[in-house]
Amino acid sequence: MFVYLDNSATTRVCEEAARAAQSAMTETFGNPSSLHRLGLEAEKLLRRSRAVIADTLGARDEEIWFTSCGTESDNTAIAGVWESRRKTGKRVITTAVEHPAVLAPCRRLQELGADVIYLPVKRDGTFDMDAFREALTPDTILVSVMHVNNETGAVMPVAEIKQAMLEVGSSALLHTDAVQSYGKLKIDAGELGADLLSVSGHKIHAPKGIGALYVRKGVHIPPLILGGGQEKGRRSGTESLPLIAAFAAAAEKVCGDIPARAEAMRTAKNFLKARVLEYVPDAVVNSPEDSVCSVLNMSFPGCRGEVLLHMLEEKDIYVSTASACSSHSKEHRSHVLSAMGLSPELIDGALRFSFCAENTPEQMDYAAYELEKAVARQRRLMKAFKK
Ligand code: PLP
Repeated sequence: MFVYLDNSATTRVCEEAARAAQSAMTETFGNPSSLHRLGLEAEKLLRRSRAVIADTLGARDEEIWFTSCGTESDNTAIAGVWESRRKTGKRVITTAVEHPAVLAPCRRLQELGADVIYLPVKRDGTFDMDAFREALTPDTILVSVMHVNNETGAVMPVAEIKQAMLEVGSSALLHTDAVQSYGKLKIDAGELGADLLSVSGHKIHAPKGIGALYVRKGVHIPPLILGGGQEKGRRSGTESLPLIAAFAAAAEKVCGDIPARAEAMRTAKNFLKARVLEYVPDAVVNSPEDSVCSVLNMSFPGCRGEVLLHMLEEKDIYVSTASACSSHSKEHRSHVLSAMGLSPELIDGALRFSFCAENTPEQMDYAAYELEKAVARQRRLMKAFKK
């Protein structure tokens, strides 16, 4: 049985998105900037796609900038706020558990003179509001806190963060990386209080290579990519209409049906969690109680997550150790689980299971059964090795 439980790394492209891409590649293939009929048709498709994405975020069409991915959206937001506001203050507040797409540009800002605060998280990976209130100074220009953590599924209280900022009259802008919450939680950028918000297509069954940045009306940040002035000068480069159309098709499908899809994911997650705890009673759940429906992080003491991953792969079951991106990083240990204070043994023995609405209880049964065998086999091997 094929069981794909790595949906936070990427998802399978849905039929609707694939069809939209195919049509934009072979039929509506004009350049949206061209003045002839083909260009106008392409421009119309671009406009329709933007309206769809805007609608899924409770935004105005002109507040949506298409980018190449979530990483570009995060970089555009962070670099843009720094460039436009660095003369008014130097403090940038983020968390220690952000995705590298936020942490790396923040480190760059430090090199440029920013005073970056990496807030600690609580033991269960959730946001520490007291630490935030303490860090929020009058010279804070940017607060960047992810909506949902990609390793544990912890949901961060973005609306409360905005409230805390308003209470002290902070003029800082609030950016949230909503890559892992998009399509799982209903998002209304206005209700969240976000000034900037990043999303990515390939986490919601669109192809890789497309993302969007919401920039609230009235917020002005400079472009990261300069050139022919596409996207009203905010992101140059000929628009990738096939990817944009596919993104809109996937977003329409996924975001139009969040309650039912989230319920299916939560059922799969709870089912897997219960089965695994039944079969491996000393397994440790690292995801907080009220984590998002799509992510479950667990540790298997005495095992190495990476070895378990490959044992499961042999059975056609696909999971992840931490996030897919951390496999490129020099750090071997998850910075998220480290920030939560987990022991090296629990960090090394961690696996992330991430779900989509198409996962079934039968798949979870099979995955838990094979996982139990893999854990037992690895523990036997470790014991024999130690003798
Ligand atoms: N932010 C978060 C929370 C993510 O999980 C990811 C990808 O895993 C990204 C940003 C980067 O998105 P992309 O792969 O589209 O660049």
